[in-house]
Amino acid sequence: MSIIDVHSFAYGDWIAPSSSARSVASAIDGTEFARAGSDQLQYQDMIDYATSNGGPALRAMTFHDRARMIKALALRLREHRDALYELSYNTGATLSDSQIDIDGGIGTLLVFASKGRREMPDETIYLDGDVEMLSRNGTFLGQHVCTSLQGVAVHINAYNFPVWGMLEKLGPCLLAGVPAIIKPATSTGYVAEAAFKILLESGLLPKGAIQLISGGTGDLLDRLGSQDVVSFTGSATTALSLRSKPNILERAVRFVAEQDSLNASVLGPDATPGTPEFDLFIKESVRELTAKAGQKCTAIRRIMAPKAQVPAVIDALSVALNNIVIGHPANKETQMGALVSNSQRLDILDKVATLSGECERVYGDPDNFTVNGANAEKGAFLPPIILHCEQPDTAQLVHTTEAFGPVSTVMPYDDIEQAIALLNRADGSLVASVITHDVDVARQVVLGSGSFHGRLYFNDRVSMKESTGHGSPLPHMVHGGPGRAGGGEELGGVRGVMHYMQRTAIQGSPDVLTRLGNQWVPGSTTINSDIHPFKKNYNALQIGESIQTDFRTITLEDIEHFARFTGDEFYAHMDEEAAAANPFFPGRVAHGYLLLSFAAGMFVEPAPGPVLANTGLNDLTFQKPVVPGDKIRVQLVVRRKTPRTDDYGEVRWHVSLSNQDDELVATYELLTMNQYG
Ligand code: NAP
Repeated sequence: MSIIDVHSFAYGDWIAPSSSARSVASAIDGTEFARAGSDQLQYQDMIDYATSNGGPALRAMTFHDRARMIKALALRLREHRDALYELSYNTGATLSDSQIDIDGGIGTLLVFASKGRREMPDETIYLDGDVEMLSRNGTFLGQHVCTSLQGVAVHINAYNFPVWGMLEKLGPCLLAGVPAIIKPATSTGYVAEAAFKILLESGLLPKGAIQLISGGTGDLLDRLGSQDVVSFTGSATTALSLRSKPNILERAVRFVAEQDSLNASVLGPDATPGTPEFDLFIKESVRELTAKAGQKCTAIRRIMAPKAQVPAVIDALSVALNNIVIGHPANKETQMGALVSNSQRLDILDKVATLSGECERVYGDPDNFTVNGANAEKGAFLPPIILHCEQPDTAQLVHTTEAFGPVSTVMPYDDIEQAIALLNRADGSLVASVITHDVDVARQVVLGSGSFHGRLYFNDRVSMKESTGHGSPLPHMVHGGPGRAGGGEELGGVRGVMHYMQRTAIQGSPDVLTRLGNQWVPGSTTINSDIHPFKKNYNALQIGESIQTDFRTITLEDIEHFARFTGDEFYAHMDEEAAAANPFFPGRVAHGYLLLSFAAGMFVEPAPGPVLANTGLNDLTFQKPVVPGDKIRVQLVVRRKTPRTDDYGEVRWHVSLSNQDDELVATYELLTMNQYG
């Protein structure tokens, strides 16, 4: 088989490996499989190409445009995923490992596309939080907004998930409107290059939106500035050397780090053998040991069990691991493939030797195990290895040594306080799981250990069928962790997009704030609608367009009729004396829901028209009671418009009810779906 030349893609050109390229071996048999790296790359030209082409083009698109593009990219990758699976076998990955990597990456893009459409505006400015009242009369207000950084994002990825690792960073970055220079790990970069090529050749991305470095990054990081971001995934050692570069520190270049982590799983005190939780714990532990041959940043490195259950845990793990078929990753029956390389295999054995000072090996012999369909001597194979640490309180290395492969250490705890103390010994991790059916244990762990972990995963008989697994970072939830895990936080829905945007506190008049967000702010100018706005289609409606109804008098008969009709005979509406004794009411008052119903009756346009449905009502507050004889009227203002489908969009209306003295009685936000023109 010919050796793959892994190219870079810079300033619009594919650049082949040069004579200084690094050789990449196949995980299956150790033979040379690919070459990557070029000393010809001009890093400043890459930055300039991104910032003068990709950045402006992406920033001209709205969040919804970018979200649609991301979805189309994901679907394009899905069409070509078989070729990516095929290529991945040489990284040691089985088909199910590649599904985590490739389908997981595609799924992540799809979630970002969907969140971009649902949770972000069809705009280029993102409003962060609500308007802040900074003045007594509301003529000077505050609003936080986020705008796209005008530099480039440098994505440095670990070797274990060449596709997911690239896409989980790229999704939020493109949604933010920032171009990326992607640098995959060299040992599996040929899979990333193939996925990159699919993205590029789709023609869906603007020129300069993505570039690829196969090989080293040269002086790229020394050229970055305040508008750039480095998002790094890999070892703590590399993270430290990169984030402490003088240029990164001097110019306060944003640096997001996801690094190694001593994740743990705790068997709850209630989860004794015979309970569904005990079996679940064994299943999750085995999955984390064997999926991707344990080369997952979230894999369980420390298995904690009540002291009395440790022998049963080791027995059950051993029985389950005896059934795991290790072999050629492309074979259908293989459940655990190879490590990425023989050097990774040696590194793990080295770490196991280190740990043996504190632990005893109770399962897995690296010198004696069966590999199906491949040469165990040449390929980077290892069996799952279970260590047992009897004294985790006094041990040090089990809480600090990451063997990035199929290795886990079982350790006992006496009570949940001790389990919490052990969880926290790793000084920060990506995820800890607790398998328990006791909700009080869950609360204790969150209070005692939450601040040490980016994610806490609780599982039991109730959630086990639908749970997503200890080791799966989900695009909806934050991924990252404090301390040793790097202090970074990726994913987490729109939170992940914000790494690539600048938050700015805006202060100004209501009109300035309305114009910035294209969202009407109370106190800003309204436009009197020439015809009833419910007769106008979505496109014709303007932000700030408004109508005011005539007054309607609320009578005692109305209140009593409503009370009997609905059954709401609460004393505040029906009993003068009791109502007057209540500190909120002067006497009998109208039902809040009666006022809402009258309001609808006052502003609704009865004939069929562009308003298709009322889909909700938000933030309803009643400011002042309405007593019999009061008059109310309603003002309706177009607050915000968001396209939803090809046929209609959502209109949010600011609705305010006021009385004859112009005092506010109630306010809320009304949601309607309106046909386009
Ligand atoms: P690594 O050796 O630290 O490499 C990570 C990335 O950094 C690779 O792309 C590597 O490129 C690059 N790199 C290394 N030195 C560099 C330099 N001087 N300048 C610029 N880039 C440089 O880590 P790895 O072996 O690929 O991955 C395994 C580690 O990653 C484990 O410790 C694991 O826990 C961690 N990990 C963490 C997460 C997470 O989300 N927290 C996810 C996956 C993995 P080359 O390959 O070209 O050297």
